[in-house]
Amino acid sequence: MYIFDAHSDIWMKSVNEKRLGNENYFMNTHFPKLKEGKILGGIFVVYTRTDEKVDPVRYFWKEIGGVIGEIRELKEKDAPIDFIKFYSEIEIAMKKGHFFALMGLEGLSGIEGDIEQINTLYNLGFRHASLTWNEENHFAAGAAIEDDSKGVTPLGEEAIKLMDKLGMMLDVSHLNQRSFWDVTEIWKKPIIASHSNSNAIFHHRRNINDEQAKAIAKSGGVIGVNACGEFLHKDNPQINCYLDNIEHLVSIAGLEAVGIGFDFCDFLGSGSLGPDELTTKDVEGLEDITTGGAVLEGLKARGFSSEDIEKIAHGNFLRVIKELIQ
Ligand SMILES: [Zn+2]
Repeated sequence: MYIFDAHSDIWMKSVNEKRLGNENYFMNTHFPKLKEGKILGGIFVVYTRTDEKVDPVRYFWKEIGGVIGEIRELKEKDAPIDFIKFYSEIEIAMKKGHFFALMGLEGLSGIEGDIEQINTLYNLGFRHASLTWNEENHFAAGAAIEDDSKGVTPLGEEAIKLMDKLGMMLDVSHLNQRSFWDVTEIWKKPIIASHSNSNAIFHHRRNINDEQAKAIAKSGGVIGVNACGEFLHKDNPQINCYLDNIEHLVSIAGLEAVGIGFDFCDFLGSGSLGPDELTTKDVEGLEDITTGGAVLEGLKARGFSSEDIEKIAHGNFLRVIKELIQ
């Protein structure tokens, strides 16, 4: 049994370590940890900083340059990881016993409303994007924007239609309520929320309510449950909170609509965000990617069958990738 992790900031760490002179960080550090955590595939995102301390465009393209360089070096070294542009390549990677990753974009503020750059990003290999992080941009409004008059803009609608035409995954995890519901009107394919938890279990602006979970299920999409302590519990996040989210979302949205999107925060430490490191809470029993197997064990202990666990661990996300990225 293996896990597909629908949201990983692994690039933040590995590209930054390379800049600090730590060559082979991905192979020496991340790869053994992914294996230990039973993670075989995932969506690795490039994050766009949108605070006033950086120029989001420069930041975005610099990160992309770092990632493209990292991928080239991994290929030159024949590393056991394949970067997936089409679903069929996942099957090939698995036959070789390789890890597989889709390249994703956490927010599109870095292209400043220039939709043609989505073509460029697609040609570079990106197959996944969310319109925003928590901010408002040319395309939509993120979770930090409470104003319900702010939703998907006409440019955002064009961007969504282009992603649809190209064959990409559209991720709603960071959108505000209005933008979320706007997306459901425009995007007629499966919607993913790659790293979101349930408001019914723990209320947070980044978590989704039951109506949203049902809408994602209705689209044929998947919600990846998030292991970041901020979104699990106010004071004492632990693995049981994570499993509670899975159980609740399964009961509301169905077994076909729930997956894993760990969002492990340890990738954001050690200067990965420059001087503004996030303070993240450790989750007891689910501290980093090496603990992935504990989720599978926890689901088993709660009475999920191995077929059920397989769907949650990877089957549901792979079904959506197969439909969207051909
Ligand atoms: Zn995120």
